[in-house]
Amino acid sequence: MLKAILFDLDGTLLPLDLEVFVHKYFESLVPFFAHKVEPKLFIKELKKATEAMINNTGTLSNEEVFMEKFLPAVEKGKEEMYPMFEEFYLTKFPQLKEYAGHSALAEQIVGQVVTKGYKVALATNPIFPEMATRHRMEWAGVAQIDWDLVTTYENSGFSKPNPKYFSEVCSKLDVLPQECLMVGNDVQEDLVAGTIGMQTYLVTDHLIDRGTPNYQPDYRGSLQEFYEFICQIPYLDKD
Ligand SMILES: [Mg+2]
Repeated sequence: MLKAILFDLDGTLLPLDLEVFVHKYFESLVPFFAHKVEPKLFIKELKKATEAMINNTGTLSNEEVFMEKFLPAVEKGKEEMYPMFEEFYLTKFPQLKEYAGHSALAEQIVGQVVTKGYKVALATNPIFPEMATRHRMEWAGVAQIDWDLVTTYENSGFSKPNPKYFSEVCSKLDVLPQECLMVGNDVQEDLVAGTIGMQTYLVTDHLIDRGTPNYQPDYRGSLQEFYEFICQIPYLDKD
């Protein structure tokens, strides 16, 4: 029996072309730090530190892994860089909204799920700080939802597509994988949840598929079709 629904954000609840968005994100981030770190070095080390988060084995948080890799590589201290990252996410990141869309369905879907008594997790790949995730939740219209869990780089020790990321979400929600439905647009990063026993729903509006591994979802459809799917699921007994 389903007890929890896990939602991906980028390309699922938040309509967006990830490739374009990441490109614009780098275009905004790199010059912001250019007076501190030479842009080529910055990009190289940002990619390496992000890779380290993807390979994180859970002893440290993703934030710790990122910073332990990134800061020494660019020869900067935390005291110097943290306030700049904060300022970036406060002042520049919000401008990236123009590269994301909006669907009224997102709020309706998650709202229905909460009303029906299911636990809800925003299972967005936790390689971003909470501030960056909060902004994207606002753009998507789901920031005011009473989420049981929002995964960010501060609170997570694994990333997608590591199946342990999904196990970590389960233990935080206090549910079994078999009691979860993972909803996402990425065949490799989201449907891998099926390998630990979660049900999966592939939202095809902004589908990403790198070909391998070729996971099959339990369900697939547009966000509109997913909305209709959610309208059909039963109410859960609160006790
Ligand atoms: Mg996605």
